[in-house]
Amino acid sequence: MKIHEYQAKQILGEYGVPVPQGFAAFSVAEAVERASGLRGSVRVVKAQIHAGGRGKAGGVKVTKSAAELESAARAIYGMKLVTPQTGEEGRIVRRLLVEEGADIRSEYYAGLVVDRVSQRVVLIGSREGGTEIEEVAKEHPELIHKIVIDPGKGVDPLEAADLARKMGIPEAAVEQAVRIFGSLYRAFVEKDAMLLEINPLVLNGNGHLVALDAKINFDDNALYRHPELVALRDLDEEDPAEIEASKFGLSYISLDGNIGCLVNGAGLAMATMDIVKLQGASPANFLDVGGGATVEKVTEAFKLMLGNPRVKVIFVNIFGGIMKCDVIAEGVGEAARQVSLQVPLVVRLEGTNVELGKKILAESGLPIIAANTMMEAAKVAVEASKGN
Ligand code: ADP
Ligand code: MG
Repeated sequence: MKIHEYQAKQILGEYGVPVPQGFAAFSVAEAVERASGLRGSVRVVKAQIHAGGRGKAGGVKVTKSAAELESAARAIYGMKLVTPQTGEEGRIVRRLLVEEGADIRSEYYAGLVVDRVSQRVVLIGSREGGTEIEEVAKEHPELIHKIVIDPGKGVDPLEAADLARKMGIPEAAVEQAVRIFGSLYRAFVEKDAMLLEINPLVLNGNGHLVALDAKINFDDNALYRHPELVALRDLDEEDPAEIEASKFGLSYISLDGNIGCLVNGAGLAMATMDIVKLQGASPANFLDVGGGATVEKVTEAFKLMLGNPRVKVIFVNIFGGIMKCDVIAEGVGEAARQVSLQVPLVVRLEGTNVELGKKILAESGLPIIAANTMMEAAKVAVEASKGN
């Protein structure tokens, strides 16, 4: 789950990370009215969307007067922000963060991620803050420094100080950096985050380090123990199809191809997307209906896929293990009838009672294209998507 920058800053503030004084506004009037309560005269208006790259796209504006602030808020609120992270459809800005302007002397990058190779949380630091870290990693890997954190000990102060120095943080601020790294790590672990990024972490004119941007992604599987985080969810920022899917216990991710995939089991669903790609087409979605693919679930899955105008064909790839193929075939047939399917349906079944399952589909009277192997099914589905 993702949250907004202002929410991430609120959490980090509670962990002792220095953040600018600011507030979230849900209208231009609110932004203007409450801005006078902020320290100083330089104020920054920032679009709140679940994507980065806002600065370059016009979603962050530094203002020096009440009039400037109002026009910045008017420009950003309601705008469609297109950044490298939003995709070309962009995002409408419905929330603003208004905060005090920082007197920036240097911009650094600090981030925490779960590293699957070391099976530990890794703290990453770089002197190249402000820009996208992926670019730095590609162009200047020597400017990326890491420490692997021992979960039994937490952030080692000596290693953290060493990292701060490698990042080019001046000696006078190293101790602050060590404290901040410790706080970031505590927040990361206690809130079950998967990714936490401060980009940029800045050194201001008073020699203080401040988190000027903040991004935190949480592990969905741990949200059951964080009602305080679930309360921060912003459904406007989420894909409507994915929200709908979660209501029915379906694991669904929207993608940009035109082959709707309905599969049981996450591994098989991944392999199905791969094989579609191998045939030169792209999946419209990832969809795992789970082990108990009931008629209700399969019907909802069909509805989700058909709600996407790009879908030209539906590819059902089911392995009947615990769930027998004949039961699944009944379910698929029933669901297809309920939604009065208008696009070709390619079905590949394998496993227990497969012959009976195929017979049920063949006799269903539905225009189903049956295939025996995954490769064959993928080929047929891709062909069908072209002719439609
Ligand atoms: P994004 O990463 O989405 O572009 P940031 O929050 O990192 O958004 O802002 C982009 C840039 O805008 C920052 O690198 C910084 O230079 C500037 N900026 C952001 N917030 C402030 C602030 N409070 N005061 C001064 N400059 C800011
Ligand atoms: Mg940033």
